[in-house]
Amino acid sequence: MNRTPNAYLSLFFPLLLLGCSKADSHSHVPIKQEIKVFSGEYPINVLCTTGQVAEMVRRIGGEHLQVTALMDHSVDPHLFKPLFDDVAKLSQADIIFYNGLHLEGRMADMFVQRARKKPTYAVTEGLVARKDKRLREPPEFAGMYDPHVWHDVLLWSDCVQDVADVLGKLDPPHAKEYDENAHRYREELAKLHQHCRDEIATIPEQSRVLITAHDAFGYFGKAYDIEVFGLKGISSEEEIDLAHQEEVQQMIMERKIPAVFVESTINSRAIEALIEPCVAAGWDLQNGGELYSDALGVAGSDASTYTGMIRHNVKTIVEALAPAAE
Ligand SMILES: [Zn+2]
Repeated sequence: MNRTPNAYLSLFFPLLLLGCSKADSHSHVPIKQEIKVFSGEYPINVLCTTGQVAEMVRRIGGEHLQVTALMDHSVDPHLFKPLFDDVAKLSQADIIFYNGLHLEGRMADMFVQRARKKPTYAVTEGLVARKDKRLREPPEFAGMYDPHVWHDVLLWSDCVQDVADVLGKLDPPHAKEYDENAHRYREELAKLHQHCRDEIATIPEQSRVLITAHDAFGYFGKAYDIEVFGLKGISSEEEIDLAHQEEVQQMIMERKIPAVFVESTINSRAIEALIEPCVAAGWDLQNGGELYSDALGVAGSDASTYTGMIRHNVKTIVEALAPAAE
């Protein structure tokens, strides 16, 4: 369950408003800090925000790092505010890795503050610094980049290399090992990327449309050639525009889209409210199942790892949208 608001520690971290101006919207959290070589006791204490970032760092760091993820399977990162315990973890960490691009929208100011005291690194920082052409700038997101980069496996793989480089600077005696671990992980991700491409291509073009509650799958759509519609915007905080919902309903009916999908960190009401009128109008629209958009699955589930999450999503989408083989 999501955390109750009264337990939040929000005194110091004013909410970052989505509607900021074009001029400052691309200014990534400015971390131009020199990374000081680690001189403490191993393992290095690393704090990450999301499960997918934590997994990446664990895979690269191996035994030299003790990695903790701040957000578990139930947490919506767009809405997350740190509790007292979380702030303590942030204070104790030797280095912090977060997603960036305002995914952790309510923690952005905090990261700027932390960066003055300790290495605090957005795993997407390299993509921004290189002006990577694959970064999405949806017009409805007020000039900011779409933060959901992990849904394009190759783009995420580039972040893996950036994190290995940062860890190598922090801990030069193990830099070669971090680089080798990153290389192995990236080979696995290259295979996963091909798997996604092959599987999504089996869905007939007419129904190759992914409809979810919030717009988390833009990168997925671009990378794997599937049209994407979210009822809410890029952030789950946004309200649903009823006119937009009606357009989506119309499209579902016209194109005979077989299914729409719920997301693990988002209330399923919005998707249920989309299914009801379609069914009432005579189109047997199905709930295609649960996708993992912004958080990994619960420990022990098939989506509890990053690769598992992506595979689960692809399998769920293909099963719901492609006609079953005879
Ligand atoms: Zn999201």
